[in-house]
Amino acid sequence: MAKRDYYEILGLERNASEDEVKKSYRKYALKYHPDRNQDNPEAEEKFKEGAEAYEVLMDPNKRQTYDQFGHEGLGGPFRRGGFQWSDFSHAGDFQDIFSNLDEIFGGGIFGDLFGSRRGGRRSNRGEDLRVTLALTLEEIAEGTPKTIKLTRLESCEACGGSGTRRGSEPVTCETCGGVGQVRQATRSLFGQFVNVTTCPQCNGNGQIIRDPCSSCGGEGRAKKQVNLTVDIPAGVSEGNYIPLRGQGNSGPKGGPAGDCLVYIEEKEHDAFERHGNDIVYDLPVSFSQAALGDEVEVPTLTGRARMTIPGGTQSGKIFRMRGKGIPEVNGYRTGDQLVRVLVWTPLKLGKREEALLRELGELDNGKPPEGGKGFFDKVKEVLGGSSAG
Ligand SMILES: [Zn+2]
Ligand SMILES: [Zn+2]
Repeated sequence: MAKRDYYEILGLERNASEDEVKKSYRKYALKYHPDRNQDNPEAEEKFKEGAEAYEVLMDPNKRQTYDQFGHEGLGGPFRRGGFQWSDFSHAGDFQDIFSNLDEIFGGGIFGDLFGSRRGGRRSNRGEDLRVTLALTLEEIAEGTPKTIKLTRLESCEACGGSGTRRGSEPVTCETCGGVGQVRQATRSLFGQFVNVTTCPQCNGNGQIIRDPCSSCGGEGRAKKQVNLTVDIPAGVSEGNYIPLRGQGNSGPKGGPAGDCLVYIEEKEHDAFERHGNDIVYDLPVSFSQAALGDEVEVPTLTGRARMTIPGGTQSGKIFRMRGKGIPEVNGYRTGDQLVRVLVWTPLKLGKREEALLRELGELDNGKPPEGGKGFFDKVKEVLGGSSAG
């Protein structure tokens, strides 16, 4: 069967805007919606045909391909022969087709038209939004206020969120008489069932907008960019989120707003590695510093700090700088900074250095104890953590 022209199906000009495509499709989908065309295979076919046309015309890439090459051109993105209805899993079961369409269209037009078909009662609360906020370890240790730039749907100013053109009123839905629900009898092997479902015509609102607001197309909300301030408490971790209640999208047709969820991401630090609330810093020292002891400067999250390396420090020894780590969120304890000392072996030696080291090597006192299995257990007391700073 030859495919019909997508524009023709939806009754559109070839230069129709995205909004015009949406609007025609809304009308089209309502007319051929299977809930309103029980046992009418022709309507079912038309409904599928419309969904296919909408899918292609709303995607700028597919639409361009279609404009240039027609149905043949669309063989690529889907399969040979173009769009296949079976590309949607569970085709044949309309409930599933709708949930698939919702996913494919991002819950947009279908979510709007038919609401949550499985859930029964529909909520017109706005969607939650999710933003990611990348923080440095310093910011995490201190806690900090942050400003987030966000694009969200806000109540349309032109219609005050109602979705109706100024001066017009929504009318009572004829399909459900304003109740928002419809009863449907289905016959099955086990007899007749009566299903009560959300009214597909008004989406459970009980009212229909005949004269939509031109600025928001009847949706009752419009995109707006806003700056939000969020107070990040000290001690947060990657994956934590801070909910900003009521800062998400406004609900369609005046519904309550969803939340904005601010997800924390931790920026990698140049010097420190985080382990829970402790931070680890690797400090290379020379052999003479380790053997004789020294006072050194190390970076911390709050600036540089002095630290004493006692004489006879082994490579791998960990010093603990108490309270220099990250505080627990809403807790009383603060983590530590662990400084791991690593003895640096020189790669090149001058004449005099070489002579001194050879002399040192001949002395018995410079020799390490017996090595082998369990060496680190035997010398645990010298390698284990101890306080410093
Ligand atoms: Zn209704
Ligand atoms: Zn409006």
